[in-house]
Amino acid sequence: MTIAHNLGFPPLGAHRELKRATEGYWSGKVPQAALLQTGAELRAAHWRLQRDAGVDLIPSNDFSYYDRVLDACAMVGAVPTRYGWSGGSFDLDTYFAMARGVQSGGRDVTAMEMTKWFDTNYHYIVPEFEPGQTFRLASTKVVDEFTEAKALGFHTKPVLIGPVTFLLLGKTRAGRVDRLDLVDALLPVYADVLGRLDAAGATWVQIDEPCLALDRTPAERAAYVRAYRFLADRAHGLKLLVTTYFAGLDDNLATARELPVAGLHVDLVRAGGGQLDQLLKAWPKGRVLSLGVIDGRNIWRADLATALGQLERARERIGADDLWVAPSCSLLHVPVDLDLEHRLDAQLKSWLAFATQKLVEVATLARAIRDGRAAVAAELEANARLIAGRRSSRRIHEPAVKQRAAGVSEKDMRRASPHATRRKRQLRLPLFPTTTIGSFPQTAEVRAARKQLHDGKLTPQEYDAFIADQIARTLKLQEELGLDVLVHGEFERNDMVEYFGEQLQGFAFTEHGWVQSYGTRYVKPPLIYGDVSRPKPMTVRWSTYAQSRTSKPVKGMLTGPVTILQWSFVRDDQPRAETAKQLALAIRDEVKDLEAAGIRVIQIDEPALREGLPLRRAEWPAYLDWAVNAFRLATGSVSDATQIHTHMCYSEFNDVIRVIEKMDADVISIENARSGSELLEALKEYKYPNEIGPGVYDIHSPRVPSAAEIGAALKRMQGVLNDRQIWVNPDCGLKTRGWEETLQALRNMVQAARQLRPVPTGG
Ligand code: GLN
Ligand code: ZN
Repeated sequence: MTIAHNLGFPPLGAHRELKRATEGYWSGKVPQAALLQTGAELRAAHWRLQRDAGVDLIPSNDFSYYDRVLDACAMVGAVPTRYGWSGGSFDLDTYFAMARGVQSGGRDVTAMEMTKWFDTNYHYIVPEFEPGQTFRLASTKVVDEFTEAKALGFHTKPVLIGPVTFLLLGKTRAGRVDRLDLVDALLPVYADVLGRLDAAGATWVQIDEPCLALDRTPAERAAYVRAYRFLADRAHGLKLLVTTYFAGLDDNLATARELPVAGLHVDLVRAGGGQLDQLLKAWPKGRVLSLGVIDGRNIWRADLATALGQLERARERIGADDLWVAPSCSLLHVPVDLDLEHRLDAQLKSWLAFATQKLVEVATLARAIRDGRAAVAAELEANARLIAGRRSSRRIHEPAVKQRAAGVSEKDMRRASPHATRRKRQLRLPLFPTTTIGSFPQTAEVRAARKQLHDGKLTPQEYDAFIADQIARTLKLQEELGLDVLVHGEFERNDMVEYFGEQLQGFAFTEHGWVQSYGTRYVKPPLIYGDVSRPKPMTVRWSTYAQSRTSKPVKGMLTGPVTILQWSFVRDDQPRAETAKQLALAIRDEVKDLEAAGIRVIQIDEPALREGLPLRRAEWPAYLDWAVNAFRLATGSVSDATQIHTHMCYSEFNDVIRVIEKMDADVISIENARSGSELLEALKEYKYPNEIGPGVYDIHSPRVPSAAEIGAALKRMQGVLNDRQIWVNPDCGLKTRGWEETLQALRNMVQAARQLRPVPTGG
């Protein structure tokens, strides 16, 4: 029978309960039992909520205290040696040490690498494999949570990260280990888990294999087949549902079909047209086909008629018995509940659906397939009305914006001279100039002031005076530290995208629309619903204030068009490239205004450029073309003397290093410390022509690096770069750090840079 099922629900809690409990635990204020209690309460609440929404088969083990890939590392005992894990049953402190590093009680261990989850803004912990890697069952979380749900009356579908995806997401640091060679060692652990789930009474197990929807080599495809043959033989009576998402199966379809499993989920939102028909052709009877027809990556209300059309086509071909309805992927990537929003106007709200509402859509569609359209006629009619209303709304179309975008020419995207010429006209700085990425600690005090302004307890004048004071103090500290290019600290910004979105036309904001970025760091992406324009300057005031307080250069700080796009929920009624161009024009206006106001260094952050890459390589060139053009359009208007910086973090640079050259920024600062020597390797092969600041320490961890450590990192960079190209800076902004560790780390950083400078002669 057709059922409605869900792939995963956001764990954080509608009111961010998990963040509060987890951070409380880290700071020693919340005992472990209380954190675990919060976790259990959230799980129970989410299971109930999903049942109430009409979901027939609810997931478990989609909950995580930090990250589901880290949970998988725990499950199979993939704990790098440096965490000193005894090999007993897995404990929460080792878990958090792997996630965040530790530097206390005599321990000083770095965190594991973290990187973007496919093309999302969610970050997972990268499994790390060592030579001689073995696996064994070390955490029974998946079984425990199934049992926990069962006790509450929910017969759930436990969710696992699939073994092949787990290996393909992992990396080896020391020595060369072929990840696929590890599959034989890994599978028995998965078989053990399946056995335990079977014994606990589970029926279906969802195994996430998003990697099966990406470009794969024949060897990788073979590994898939081998792995699932092995597991199918040991699944007992369990039914395995292999889930793929974020892209279509395309050339992996035959492999997917060959897997001896009870069901397959495909993301029909992302899969190209034609995929459905290919699937339906010769679909084996008795195997479940789960169709992800509701967009799990965006917040628009679904067009139910279109989704239902697809499902009915499938029903015709394979029958209702084998057909399941689902969101395209886990709902981790959308906010929890639209009903919490009281400030969005009614019209805009009527265009939206968050996780809870999406599940109702899934349930409605399943009902339509089960009981016929008539059973949900009222729902379908209401939906059609709202969809039509949005399409024709005057609110989203701005003719002047469309016209300006259509008139952009190649010339608008080019700086006057090449970098070598520009460099001579730009600031004079010592060798190995030091700088930071923009933000300084967003302390409780800063957040409290923002809240007080919001609650009307501070007047705008009082708030501004507070911000001015923060800026002035931070400039003074930077001068004392001896940094060369200063920043104002971004205290006035809640978030690097929201701050701009709030000042642009075509954007809307939620009050509670949080989605997890990594660990307890959540973001509240803006909604781009209409044509974008900039009514007035956005950053000039604080940048010029900052520059007026120091004789050192202060960088103007902007967020780039691709990142604004990537970290927002974007309208789905025009190509992303078009929205990017509108954003680029808005940023271009801001860049011009900053330059006119005397700001000589302007940084345009594009940390999300890499994550925007389509998952399939065949689609890269088109994306990179418009993404790079958006950056160039934003920056192309400045004079040679204005130094343009950009910043990227958590990039797999090997993929984009050549693209970075095309962006033609004078200086790029780039994440580097946490992913070992990848950037170094990339720069060995490829001579980057402009200036570059490879991050010298990891700001995602509270650990303070020593000057020697930073010096060593710089020495390595000297091996692949010319001294005149190297800038010295942390990996990323410092907003999540405390002041004390920040000052210590920057002091060490400046010292390390100075030690590399030639000693002045003469005098
Ligand atoms: N300028 C931003 C900051 O320092 C950059 C943040 C980012 O790259 N994610 O906070
Ligand atoms: Zn960054």
